[in-house]
Amino acid sequence: VSLKDRALATVGFRLAETKVKVRPVRRERFDYLVVGAGFAGAVLAERLASVMGKRVLIIDKRDHVGGNTFDYHDAAGILVHKYGPHIFHTNSNEVVQYLSRFTDWRQYEHRVLASVDGKLLPIPINLDTINGLYGLDLDATGMQDFLARRTVTPSSIRTSEDICVSRVGRELYEKFFQNYTRKQWGLDPSELDASVAGRIPVRFDRDNRYFTDTFQAMPSLGYTRMFEKMLDHPKITIRTGVNYAEVAAAYPGVKTIFTGPVDEFFDYRFGPLPYRSLEFKHETYDQEKYQAAAVVNYPNDHAFTRVTEFKYLTGQIAPKTSVVFEYPKAEGDPYYPIPRPENAAIYAKYKELAERANDVHFVGRLASYKYYNMDQVVAQALNLFRKIAGAAPPAFVQ
Ligand code: FAD
Ligand code: UDP
Repeated sequence: VSLKDRALATVGFRLAETKVKVRPVRRERFDYLVVGAGFAGAVLAERLASVMGKRVLIIDKRDHVGGNTFDYHDAAGILVHKYGPHIFHTNSNEVVQYLSRFTDWRQYEHRVLASVDGKLLPIPINLDTINGLYGLDLDATGMQDFLARRTVTPSSIRTSEDICVSRVGRELYEKFFQNYTRKQWGLDPSELDASVAGRIPVRFDRDNRYFTDTFQAMPSLGYTRMFEKMLDHPKITIRTGVNYAEVAAAYPGVKTIFTGPVDEFFDYRFGPLPYRSLEFKHETYDQEKYQAAAVVNYPNDHAFTRVTEFKYLTGQIAPKTSVVFEYPKAEGDPYYPIPRPENAAIYAKYKELAERANDVHFVGRLASYKYYNMDQVVAQALNLFRKIAGAAPPAFVQ
């Protein structure tokens, strides 16, 4: 490993902090160009370098690594997530074992309240939600009967409206789901795939956790530190503040891992794929606590969908507290692929092109146009690596 390689890798980190750009590095130095330093890109860069000894250049158009999970300490010393709350949860042992090489974990089970009819009630809807909302004292069987009298089973469950109405009935759907979804997506739930609202289950017990996965924890020093460890390898060079469009010409034919929007890669040949965006409004208050739970959802009031108080996620004790408000928008950074049939049809065309592209692999939430959680992206990236490593035997370089 040359000293220059090591130096470049280090410089990359400093650049991330100082936001300075450098000229592209000469092409022949790298076996792989990884576009995007989020989970998808970082996992591939790490695997290609560590296991196969490949020389990897990883770029990101943002001025930091970590993609949408990027976190930092704000002026009050609170570890906040720049692009909205990221709660890690998974049922995959492989994903946990892999990431645990780069971080310790802080056990954390996420809980969310919804502000409905002037009350703060647990979401996903559970026994306490129904009892609290209607002033009842039902048990599990009572809740089953209560919902059975209200639910309607449509002939097929295609949309987010179908799935909600079939699970909780129209009234609860209207109070908890319809307006939140309209705000979040700019679409009525009847226009979105069932998988969207289907992410939120219904429970007949008092389990008020947002997730029930076997592993739920936060990286103990944050996501950014975890990414820095993943990418801290002599064969990995990081360039932040660099767009693929600026450097693509400098690396013709280089093997590429692309984790940006797939439609962008193909110059929007089949038209743009719709993505939903958000504006994040970060605030710090001179008080210890702001709200009663890590996240409070506001389905029916305000222009924002939810408010996250970060101290719940980090366990920090401090005199001030920092929160983020999420305002959905049509324009802006692409955060959410929009799952609905017309978009799936456009994506299918891009997917066909992507599968035929020589020496370019598409991976991650934007490149696959899939509403993936972090663990799903890590699993997808590890699977892609297995494919690559199988196709080309590992080349270890000492
Ligand atoms: P990204 O993190 O988006 O990384 C892609 C990177 O590519 C970006 O940094 C981008 O700047 C870069 N890029 C794109 N185009 C170019 C280009 N042309 N040139 C250079 N660089 C480029 N998941 C969970 O599991 N739990 C949660 O609680 C959770 N909460 C979320 C909350 C919000 C508000 C959002 C938006 C997502 C949330 N997710 C959550 C999903 C999670 O963010 C994603 O699954 C994960 O970050 C996707 O990783 P990725 O590498 O595919 O994409
Ligand atoms: N949802 C809702 N009301 C809620 C919470 C969620 O209607 O109180 C619906 C909404 O359509 C949302 C989807 O369920 O976009 C998925 O919610 P999740 O919390 O998983 O969204 P994310 O964290 O990915 O933004």
